[in-house]
Amino acid sequence: MRVLRLATLLTLSTALPLMAQEVNIYSYRQPELIAPLTDAFTAETGIKVNVAYLEKGMVERLVAEGDRSPADLVLTVDIARLAEVVAAGVTQPVTSATLTGNVPAAYHDPEGHWWGLTTRARIVYASKDRVKDGDVTTYEDLADPKWKGRICTRPFTNAYNVGLTAAVLHHHGAEATKTWLEGVKANLAKKPEGNDRSQVKSIWAGECDISLGNTYYMAQMLKDPEQTAWADSVRIVFPTFADGGTHVNISGIAMTKAAPNKDAALKMMEFLTSPKAQAIYAEANAEYPIAPGSEPDPLVKGWGSFTADTVNLMDLAKLRPSALKLIEEVNFDG
Ligand code: FE
Repeated sequence: MRVLRLATLLTLSTALPLMAQEVNIYSYRQPELIAPLTDAFTAETGIKVNVAYLEKGMVERLVAEGDRSPADLVLTVDIARLAEVVAAGVTQPVTSATLTGNVPAAYHDPEGHWWGLTTRARIVYASKDRVKDGDVTTYEDLADPKWKGRICTRPFTNAYNVGLTAAVLHHHGAEATKTWLEGVKANLAKKPEGNDRSQVKSIWAGECDISLGNTYYMAQMLKDPEQTAWADSVRIVFPTFADGGTHVNISGIAMTKAAPNKDAALKMMEFLTSPKAQAIYAEANAEYPIAPGSEPDPLVKGWGSFTADTVNLMDLAKLRPSALKLIEEVNFDG
């Protein structure tokens, strides 16, 4: 009897706080990618995860909700978006030995307002038939007249290309960046439109020979029966800056200033940077995990290795308005 009562008490005292715990996320990342991670987190901790998937307006919503915001965490891609949330004053600094152990210094805010979770490289998709090894090795090469009429790209006002242009600006300054943009524009096979994958379709169709795209789209194309042939027509080339490495961007997370479930939110952040969650990220979206010792998916590994450019990501975020201005000045998408 006494034993039973003790057992009941123990069950209650351990089960109750866990049942009560939850964490709320605003996410720009898609359900297919986030659900496997939140499921694994709940299975491991018993903490319930509620996700609001947003397409836009996250910062405005957090600002409007203020102290009453139910959100504990925000998940997004692109350092610019992370920087935007931080600049709006709706995040709080977070740090822990687990986080600093799992996330290399280059991929988190020194003050802890944002933490990277994965990286993706912006690379060149090159026609297997029409582009030889070594024909394109740098981003600077893309402005070389030898590519005249051979390049396809999505609009440069797109966030991914603004990020790349910000990196060009970091390496070469405004004048040279403008010249580079004019050079690339002069090499275009057609007016920029569509997304990264539709450029690869254009290569497959023979309309151009190289395009810019993020690495994980290769995996997405291979998974889609309609797009497999597009993927098979190209190989991935990791260009570098003449005086640097390959342009990468991150996906990341930040804790909101209003976070009502701070402890659970920190646990979630630590979980997402853990080797277990990093392996889920690597497999689910073919991104590069960032935790030391974690490996990309075998498919991703097969694309080859690269050295990421060492520019500080926050410096890039700051250069984005100037980059966008230059893109508009040369009327790149026009
Ligand atoms: Fe994308």
